[in-house]
Amino acid sequence: MLGLMMNEPLRIAGLIEHAAKWHGDTEIVSRLTEGGIHRYTYQQAHQRAKQLANALTALGVQNGDRIGTLAWNNHRHFELYYGISGLGAVCHTINPRLFAEQLVYIINHAEDRLVFFDLTFLPLVEKLAPLCPKVETWVLLTDRAHMPDPQDATSPAHPDLRCYEDLLAAHSADFEWPTFDEDTASSLCYTSGTTDQPKGVLYSHRSTLLHSYAAGLPDCFNCAATDVILPVVPMFHVNAWGIPYLAPMIGCKLVLPGPGLDAASLFELFENERVTFSAGVPTIWFGLLTFMREKKARFSTLHKMIVGGASCPPALLRAFDEELGVQIRHAWGMSETSPLGTVNTLKPNQLHLSPDEQFAVGTKQGRAIFGIDLKIVDGDDRELPHDGVAFGDLLVRGPFVAGAYYNSDNRSQFTADGWFRTGDVATIDAEGFMNITDRSKDVIKSGGEWISSIDLENLAVAHPAVAEAAVIGVPHPKWSERPLLVVVRKPDAEVSSEELLAFFEGKVARWWTPEAVEFVDQLPHTATGKLLKTRLRQDFAGYEFP
Ligand code: ADP
Repeated sequence: MLGLMMNEPLRIAGLIEHAAKWHGDTEIVSRLTEGGIHRYTYQQAHQRAKQLANALTALGVQNGDRIGTLAWNNHRHFELYYGISGLGAVCHTINPRLFAEQLVYIINHAEDRLVFFDLTFLPLVEKLAPLCPKVETWVLLTDRAHMPDPQDATSPAHPDLRCYEDLLAAHSADFEWPTFDEDTASSLCYTSGTTDQPKGVLYSHRSTLLHSYAAGLPDCFNCAATDVILPVVPMFHVNAWGIPYLAPMIGCKLVLPGPGLDAASLFELFENERVTFSAGVPTIWFGLLTFMREKKARFSTLHKMIVGGASCPPALLRAFDEELGVQIRHAWGMSETSPLGTVNTLKPNQLHLSPDEQFAVGTKQGRAIFGIDLKIVDGDDRELPHDGVAFGDLLVRGPFVAGAYYNSDNRSQFTADGWFRTGDVATIDAEGFMNITDRSKDVIKSGGEWISSIDLENLAVAHPAVAEAAVIGVPHPKWSERPLLVVVRKPDAEVSSEELLAFFEGKVARWWTPEAVEFVDQLPHTATGKLLKTRLRQDFAGYEFP
């Protein structure tokens, strides 16, 4: 048939080419691991990504080779995103917060040929290197002045350690990005293993670009060339929710916070760089909220943000909106969904609802974005109704959802008819708003009925004396399982078990009220800041209710 469109494959290098050509003067600002602030433009970033591509070629990197990164959000990591994927190799972002044995497993499983790492991780690399024999070269992401002294016998330098800036300086920016099939693998990210061994999710150029288009939509991140984006979410886990690709696509200024993720450092960057949009997990925003309250501070430019990655307590959403004037959107996703799956924004027929009703809608995880299809099913994979009440296993599919795990024949999470089992348990209401009630392994089965641990945790943290709370199911002779509430009290706050249990009265069905409360100094977390309930269940194995 005559008259079709051009057949130009979607490629990650196309994003940086676009930004360099049409937004060449727009800045990328980074807080450096070595200290200080670095600033340059898309045009300069593009030049350096091409120098890197030449350097990788000289090191013998071939199409499809996995190249690891252990780095904060900074300009060099940004260059690796483009230099590696643009060349046709796979940018394997490694989460340094995982346990050393998980890191060894991941690097060996991915068979990374080179690993680029930030100065912070030099002692870690010293431990990992002897256990990762397939890594041919370790490259320190710094300049000559910050390289460890090879003469110093106590220096933890690996014998083959290379210096990133030297590597780049040795190569020109004369490079043409190759063209290849858009289904070529571009990047690799292992899940944080909250419930299992880490599993590799392999993204493609096509899936990454489609996800970037989706992320920019008004009902998603709603960003434009006039925005200034600061991703707090790390570039080492699920590609910072796609922001390093979205920013060049729309040509907006990008601010990368490096290792400075404490509230004071973030606030300073938000103000100095006139940031308008940010994205992060609830723990980060809790820290920032406490800081803003203590300092009685206000944002000059920040006015919209995304919270996701873990369930966001309603109290946090309300505080940002009402106290700080920031429009905060709740979103859900996972490594396997690139990660955006749902984002919460109102539909037209909800505009007439009262503020409280609208707020109640906003606490859910949101509606499917284009590119993601959702359904909830019962134990026999029968689809459940969208009534906001029935809850079941959440399944997803779409062009930026994983179709298999990297180098794994484990298909247990993939159905024969093409859906991915998320491992989350959710409801979907008549307007299509999805609400996560639990992870399937965390749901509490009491007397044959399900109790949502997340609902109980959200209620518990609304108590003024509670800093953090977790609810787990504990075996019970009569009900098979009953909820146990584990609480970290706020410093200097006093509250008894009885007072806390009374706090649930009238807020949940009587049989949902936790059976008992235990107080602890801290709760276990995963590398990405989520409650580590597998550990908590081990800690309370053999627990007997009073
Ligand atoms: P891992 O599965 O290793 O923890 P991910 O970072 O991919 O790694 O985490 C995805 C999971 O995080 C989801 O399956 C879900 O359980 C949880 N999650 C993400 N966003 C939310 C949210 N807004 N509310 C509740 N849970 C969330």
